[in-house]
Amino acid sequence: MTTPESPETELVTSIANELYAEGPVAAVPAWEPPPLPDLSDPPVSPAAGLPMDATPRFYFLPDPPPPPAPQPPPAGLLDVHAIRQDFPALHQQVNGKPLIWLDNAATTHKPHAVIGALLEFYSRDNSNIHRGAHALAERATDAFETARGKVQRFLGAESPEEIIFTRGTTEGINLVAQTYGRRFVGPGDEIVVTELEHHSNLVPWQMLCEEQGAVLRVAPLDDAGQVVPEEYERLLGPRTRLVALAHVSNVLGTVLPLGPMIAQAHQAGARVLVDGAQGAPHLPVDVRALDADFYVFSGHKLYGPTGIGVLYGKRALLEEMPPWQGGGNMIDTVSFEGNTYKGPPVKFEAGTAHIAGAVGLGAAVDYLNRLGRERIAACEEALTAYGMAALATVPGLRLIGAAPGKVGILTFVLAGRTPQEVGARLDREGIAVRSGHHCAQPALRRYGLTAAVRSSLAFYNTREEIDALVAAVRKAQRGS
Ligand code: PLP
Repeated sequence: MTTPESPETELVTSIANELYAEGPVAAVPAWEPPPLPDLSDPPVSPAAGLPMDATPRFYFLPDPPPPPAPQPPPAGLLDVHAIRQDFPALHQQVNGKPLIWLDNAATTHKPHAVIGALLEFYSRDNSNIHRGAHALAERATDAFETARGKVQRFLGAESPEEIIFTRGTTEGINLVAQTYGRRFVGPGDEIVVTELEHHSNLVPWQMLCEEQGAVLRVAPLDDAGQVVPEEYERLLGPRTRLVALAHVSNVLGTVLPLGPMIAQAHQAGARVLVDGAQGAPHLPVDVRALDADFYVFSGHKLYGPTGIGVLYGKRALLEEMPPWQGGGNMIDTVSFEGNTYKGPPVKFEAGTAHIAGAVGLGAAVDYLNRLGRERIAACEEALTAYGMAALATVPGLRLIGAAPGKVGILTFVLAGRTPQEVGARLDREGIAVRSGHHCAQPALRRYGLTAAVRSSLAFYNTREEIDALVAAVRKAQRGS
């Protein structure tokens, strides 16, 4: 066990020790807090002296921060063993064994950079934002809006006004269904989805169809887990208003060919929402190159905090959409005669946002950029190929999802054992996987299943962990 070197490290270690009473965490690496600016003589707000009837975006933050100069991508391969030192939660014992975290599609662990950003925000900058005329409100607003700029660049969006902070993917999809959908989808109109969608990208559309008298049409999958292109094309027509597509399937790992699928939908006159919950964590995303109308993802699957997510929308569409939730922050003027609303993104951010969550998400984005997103994708691709080949050696194991170029979501069933039995057996070995329907019942049904075991990889996983998974699956099969 390493000696903690800072109060923050000590705090993390003691919390972990308390939570995992079976024994002390193996090694919580030392964490250096980021250097804090000297606040003894706080800088004067650039907007100080602005007359109150001027209308900057926020009265003490008239200009968005300038984007940093583009950095060349880091060269070479990722050093996974060094990277693991950034993730304190990976260094603990579960059931007497070192934790092997293969439940990354459900949520990812957080690097020190993210934990530190939360700690720093709550220890120093904590304030409500946009409305307070004091130093902490200014710092908190600055941190929140800086995070928005980071997400904008992460997605390749044109402006920060196109980035709306939500609670997560599910909320982003519901927001589009209940604003864009209610306004632009009418009786007899059609919404197209695919058979591999997560329930979050199905149920809101089913609810909208029921409410508006619209029709849901479903593009089927082939045996490998790919959307059948001719069937998808056949579904698109003059009544198609909206197409909702996963970037990556959370059960099959399939990466959808978004470029051509979005282009075809646009040719039919439809708008396209991309559910990027499993895409953004694994693959570089450029919403403008994709020409996606909406793109949503969750912070917690991207090494960031829970309770924060992002909806990207093309500015012109966001302008056309009515507000969603009403309340503080999103209004311009309120009177009993009628209200006026702010423009995007604030129009869709009623109430107090998850300010620290946004800051933590910004730190996660910085962290991924430092590693290099192309390098992350390359590292995970190699690990996925290794994992697929290793699992395929287990007799009686059936892998679900074999699309070329799939990401590291390895879903399987084992002859003679229920997925629940396998999951429980792996947990005894300290291996965290998920068993069940994975919130994608139609996708599993396509392969004759109601449940399966899902092991899902991240760049911090190792080949040794995959070997341990395979060995434990063999034990589960033997019943030992
Ligand atoms: N879409 C996909 C593809 C997912 O994998 C998930 C979560 O597993 C979601 C949507 C929902 O994400 P959240 O629960 O963070 O809103």
